[in-house]
Amino acid sequence: MAVVDYLIVGGGVAGTTAAETLRRLRPNAAITIVSAEPYPLYSRVLLPHLVLGKASREKIFLRQAEQYREKGIEFLAGVAVAELRPGEHTAVIVGYSKSDNSRILNIRYHKLLLATGGAALPLGVPGEHLLGVTPFRSLHDAEAIIAALSAMPNSECQALAVGGSFISLEFPPFFEKFGLAGGMLLRGERFWRRILDDEASGVIEDTLLAHNIRIYKGEALVACEGERRLESVRLADGRRLKTSFLGYGVGLAGAPEFVLQAGIAGGPNGIAADERLRTSAPDVWAAGDCADFWDVTVGRRHRLGNWLNAQEQGRFAAEAMAGEKEIPFESVSAYATKIFECSIAMIGDLTSQAESRWLTRGTRANGKVARLHLRGGKLAGAALINILTERAAITTLIKNRTDLRGREKDLADPSFGLQNFF
Ligand SMILES: Cc1cc2nc3c(=O)[nH]c(=O)nc-3n(C[C@H](O)[C@H](O)[C@H](O)COP(=O)(O)OP(=O)(O)OC[C@H]3O[C@@H](n4cnc5c(N)ncnc54)[C@H](O)[C@@H]3O)c2cc1C
Repeated sequence: MAVVDYLIVGGGVAGTTAAETLRRLRPNAAITIVSAEPYPLYSRVLLPHLVLGKASREKIFLRQAEQYREKGIEFLAGVAVAELRPGEHTAVIVGYSKSDNSRILNIRYHKLLLATGGAALPLGVPGEHLLGVTPFRSLHDAEAIIAALSAMPNSECQALAVGGSFISLEFPPFFEKFGLAGGMLLRGERFWRRILDDEASGVIEDTLLAHNIRIYKGEALVACEGERRLESVRLADGRRLKTSFLGYGVGLAGAPEFVLQAGIAGGPNGIAADERLRTSAPDVWAAGDCADFWDVTVGRRHRLGNWLNAQEQGRFAAEAMAGEKEIPFESVSAYATKIFECSIAMIGDLTSQAESRWLTRGTRANGKVARLHLRGGKLAGAALINILTERAAITTLIKNRTDLRGREKDLADPSFGLQNFF
């Protein structure tokens, strides 16, 4: 049985950052990354650029295989951890094939990091496995999307996307790029219906409409239909929309089966971790998209799904595993993207609580709106639509926990500079 000091499950940004941090802190330690995907670290953030033809396949790779070797990090690609025995500090790896053709490798670890990201949550409707129904999580998905959209005759029907958040919004620019009529199916009346109001969501809608993307509001998808390939989608009221492509982004799946089977706490929101990213098992940490961690800044457990958080948690977990971190993980989360010419950023905590108060800064007519989430008189988070210039000021207000009681009128006035609060 192989024995390593640090075993990292997942070769995404959280796992890779953790491995490289551990190498810096522990020059002589044996470090192994097990990566289910068959390639070195690549940027998921750049995948939309790959589909749009703005970035080459080569450009999205952030590491080359030899860079792991140079750093003395063993990188096992295209194999997965299928079983954990936390009591024995052992992981069972499948798909492992060396010259002796063994299919299983057992590794004993001293400390283990779970950095398994998150698989795309299934649509949960009949027919979702038909060809042409595609999630968007990996390089493999990006290449499947390119193949499917290139093969779709533009006279045939519209390409559709379902879901009202970041991943589903990546699809409409693809439809335009491939010369297809496109549409979006929204379950509610707005994008991010719990965060945005009509003004803020309206700015995104106006952008999509300007690019001839049809928005179907208040529509629940109940089935994908076809023989082997998608031919139509059925809506709750019985209507059918003819299509051979449905892209979806409806969230991330919960904690992986092998983690739950090992008796490690977790559930639909990911792998449970405390404020120092420790899981319920001894010597096992969790970081990145898979971690449902106790966030001291918001006073509850939650899961974040952005690049910066995964990177910061990977670094933090490595420091904790090396015994050099006694404080809680703290960070202001941020996700920013651009859909056509509309920039969207979500910063900090945007989950409504009993004492939450929401303010709108800006108007749909001006094409710039911020939604500000106040809790206990302090700014907890913000959604910025087309006003990224305010991102730094917003982040500072959240970090400083500035008392904004009685200043609601100024906050809601876009002509009042936020830097006046510092
Ligand atoms: C299309 C797209 C666009 C995005 N755009 C943005 C953006 O603009 N801004 C932003 O901040 N964020 C963006 N994100 C989110 C961001 O990419 C993620 O938050 C980040 O990549 C998470 O990193 P991670 O290391 O936690 O997980 P991942 O990158 O998901 O890596 C986890 C790895 O673990 C592997 N794994 C899982 N189980 C096992 C196992 N049992 N054994 C071995 N390996 C396993 C997985 O296959 C995967 O390779 C985007 C994501 C996508 C999909």
